[in-house]
Amino acid sequence: MNYPDRFDVIVIGGGHAGTEAALASARMGCQTLLLTHNIETLGQMSCNPAIGGIGKSHLVKEIDALGGAMGLATDAGGIQFRVLNARKGPAVRATRAQADRVRYKAAIRGMLENQSNLTIFQQAAGDLMVDNNTVRGVVTETGIRFHSESVVLSTGTFLGGVIHIGLDQSRGGRAGDAPSNALAERLRALPFRVDRLKTGTPPRIDAKSVDFSQFEEQPGDTPTPVMSYLGSREMHPKQLSCHITHTNERTHEIIMANLERSPMYSGVIEGIGPRYCPSIEDKVHRFADKSSHQIFIEPEGLDTNELYPNGISTSLPFDIQLQVVRSIKGMENAHITRPGYAIEYDFFDPRDLQHSLETKFIHNLFFAGQINGTTGYEEAGAQGLLAGLNAARRARQLEAWYPRRDEAYLGVLVDDLITMGTKEPYRMFTSRAEYRLLLREDNADLRLTEKGRELGLVDDVRWAAFSQKRDAIEQESARLASTWVQPKSPAATVIAEHTGQALNREYRLSDLLKRPELTYEALTHLPGLEASPVTDEAVAEQVQIQAKYQGYIDRQQDEIDKLKRHEAMPLPADLDYQGIEGLSNEIRQKLSEARPETLAQAARISGVTPAAVSILLIQLKKRR
Ligand code: FAD
Repeated sequence: MNYPDRFDVIVIGGGHAGTEAALASARMGCQTLLLTHNIETLGQMSCNPAIGGIGKSHLVKEIDALGGAMGLATDAGGIQFRVLNARKGPAVRATRAQADRVRYKAAIRGMLENQSNLTIFQQAAGDLMVDNNTVRGVVTETGIRFHSESVVLSTGTFLGGVIHIGLDQSRGGRAGDAPSNALAERLRALPFRVDRLKTGTPPRIDAKSVDFSQFEEQPGDTPTPVMSYLGSREMHPKQLSCHITHTNERTHEIIMANLERSPMYSGVIEGIGPRYCPSIEDKVHRFADKSSHQIFIEPEGLDTNELYPNGISTSLPFDIQLQVVRSIKGMENAHITRPGYAIEYDFFDPRDLQHSLETKFIHNLFFAGQINGTTGYEEAGAQGLLAGLNAARRARQLEAWYPRRDEAYLGVLVDDLITMGTKEPYRMFTSRAEYRLLLREDNADLRLTEKGRELGLVDDVRWAAFSQKRDAIEQESARLASTWVQPKSPAATVIAEHTGQALNREYRLSDLLKRPELTYEALTHLPGLEASPVTDEAVAEQVQIQAKYQGYIDRQQDEIDKLKRHEAMPLPADLDYQGIEGLSNEIRQKLSEARPETLAQAARISGVTPAAVSILLIQLKKRR
């Protein structure tokens, strides 16, 4: 049957990528269909009930700055919030929230159901309608044909999904959900490069069966951090603590004695797993000298007793999982409510995509999320937003938009994926961004919300809140730059108390704020000076960060401008790339083969990083 209405954009899969894609497209005014297996699992967290963390909260805040849902859903569902790296510089600071699974999912579903231009339909997509290398729509497994201008595919771990518990295997998209086999077969017949990856999850534990007195308590931070730029503490539900315990030598003995019953070590699993989120058997095997590994005991929600033991993801058989869990302090009598498992699934080589996430082979077809070889809700959500936005632009015959590496972590993520591809599940880290001083989680809105507004992603409420904040930052920065402190004045005396040094001449407040011993807070109520009008913590934080790090930020901006200015610089035909120090062998090889004519061409070669381009620039200058 042909469905009577035609859509601009169809999104397949209502996970983290698909929901952001559908919302973005609909916000832009495109008639959008979200086609998903099961409406009850919209926005479901397949694994860890947590959002954010290092590098990842940067993505959440960027999604939020562009009008997306993840940050607001985290504030609605977050039951413990912490700032990681709080003592380090603002570039690597990150917000992490433990989320109540049910509340998070309900918040996402609420946003989807209330989004105008968005239609939700529960059914599995089984086929794509492709004609003349262009996608024309989607056919469900029961034969309903939905027609559209563009399609976003965001089916997560479901394509050809195989679940492993010990040496037992079953087909599934995640525990309790059917896999997507018809669609997987159809996609394998298209000219994309397909491979297998794997990921895993720990057994869940009944809180009634553990002894919390044996754990170390880890409460959330006070004051409680907030995830969304539109969020507030008042939105947060009741807050809970997490707890910490450890594996021990007995745990490791059990694992080592049963490794051959692990599908990974017996060669049953072929897919490569996430290096930064290894299974407990992997950790025990690879770091044999360590006698203990940390486990965070995390609540799954406010209305459930289930606990998520973060750090013991495993695919060992259930009897061994039980022994492992019960060998851990505080869990001697633990009851496992759900066994841990590993899942293997198809992913597509992201080098077959363009920066817009449109595939190179099939026009108007976009891929987003775990199917592009990433891992994590945040990486998926960010790609979803970009794919949804570009699918909508394509439906309207507009040029694609994507951020550059110096504009957003989203730019870094997509550029890494499509230029270098990935051999293991790709996770975001701050170290992947060469301009991380510019790309902080605290300024994602200042970097992206104006663009989001221009693209039609940002609604009036967010725009008004953002404009007010941006203006307040500008006004307060201007006030600090035009307020002078005279030596020997009462204000100078207070400053001397803070710094241990008398002021020898007049200073602007903006210059004083650059001193490490002086905080914005300390400069707000100086005697004899007008008190600061700023009450908004986010404005105060921004004014302080901008003042303190201006020098470094300017330097990084200069570097970016310099690279941009030199993009047209010719690369000599006889340049010996093999002899250039600092380039990796892989990059030397690629440059020697491709022999780009300009620096810009070199930068576009897959795998040639901005750092490598800087090295080439230095070489060119040396030859002059
Ligand atoms: P998903 O969230 O998987 O959503 C896919 C959606 O598509 C689902 O709603 C599904 O029902 C729907 N769908 C699939 N096929 C079809 C179809 N044919 N028709 C209609 N709808 C369809 N990430 C981490 O960062 N750390 C971890 O430790 C971690 N462990 C994990 C362990 C397990 C067992 C699993 C399954 C995932 C794990 N992840 C982990 C990954 C994390 O869950 C994903 O990165 C994230 O959910 C990906 O989002 P997504 O939107 O791409 O896909």
